[in-house]
Amino acid sequence: MRTFDYHRPASLTEVSAALKATPDARLLAGGMTLIPALKLRLATPQALVDLSAIADLRGIRVGGGVVTVGAMTRHAELERSAEVRAVIPALTDLAGSIGDPQVRNRGTIGGSIANNDPSADYPAAVLGLGATITTNQRSIPADDFFTGMFDTALKPGEIVTAVNFPVPSAAAYEKFRSPASRYALVGVFVARTPKGVRVAVTGAGPCVFRVPAMETALTEKFAVEALASIRTPADGLNSDMHADAQYRAHLVGVLARRAVESMLAAAAKR
Ligand SMILES: Cc1cc2nc3c(=O)[nH]c(=O)nc-3n(C[C@H](O)[C@H](O)[C@H](O)COP(=O)(O)OP(=O)(O)OC[C@H]3O[C@@H](n4cnc5c(N)ncnc54)[C@H](O)[C@@H]3O)c2cc1C
Repeated sequence: MRTFDYHRPASLTEVSAALKATPDARLLAGGMTLIPALKLRLATPQALVDLSAIADLRGIRVGGGVVTVGAMTRHAELERSAEVRAVIPALTDLAGSIGDPQVRNRGTIGGSIANNDPSADYPAAVLGLGATITTNQRSIPADDFFTGMFDTALKPGEIVTAVNFPVPSAAAYEKFRSPASRYALVGVFVARTPKGVRVAVTGAGPCVFRVPAMETALTEKFAVEALASIRTPADGLNSDMHADAQYRAHLVGVLARRAVESMLAAAAKR
């Protein structure tokens, strides 16, 4: 049996000290990805540094046109937040679409974006809304944060402390989920912001990405027809036992159209 040290510090200063003391230590948030990785010996750190005792990392604040979500906020807390639902319902819907109740009651937003699974849902909202990630060292714009498959701009020892979402005028997330895992086979997040429309896609490629052609077309005319002639190339998209690259490319267009439809329908009801 492999052994490792377990730390549960009460402050970020103590977290940093524990990480410095054991360079290959891993942060533990909800454990939904890390614990299975430990069990399968895919990760063999000498120490785990549990963030769950740090109250400052939890909670949601809404104000000044920004939703700030602490890194240790569970998916279920965001899903149930009436304050967030009032300003970005697409974000609470997205949180409610993640995994199952057990996963939503353990998994955290900080763990999800630090892990940057190519099929994870939050990266689509973070990139689609043009959020800013706050760490113990700096602020990182979403456009610079997600750098590749399971890769981010985080440096060794850097801790995500919060995610700040600017409130859009409207947004929607459409997800085609894998029936087995409930991860996004493909997920498309569309947001109307003061600087134009943003479209972010998860699940289709190795890392969440934006679709500039759709953004330009929808900024000029926010209508489903604006997407009619835009095809997503399959080159470089994921192919696996669940779906090949062509199918995923097709889903990007279908889900983008559904997201626009749902935003237009919501606007019509107001
Ligand atoms: C059965 C199952 C189904 C799932 N379905 C979905 C789904 O449909 N959609 C979806 O998006 N996700 C899904 N997930 C993933 C889940 O929602 C979690 O978000 C994810 O596992 C990571 O979050 P966590 O809090 O559990 O992090 P952990 O597993 O504790 O940590 C993950 C990684 O992030 C690092 N880390 C954690 N917190 C921080 C921090 N604050 N700063 C820096 N690094 C940090 C850790 O060191 C580790 O490397 C599923 C997971 C399971 C097990």
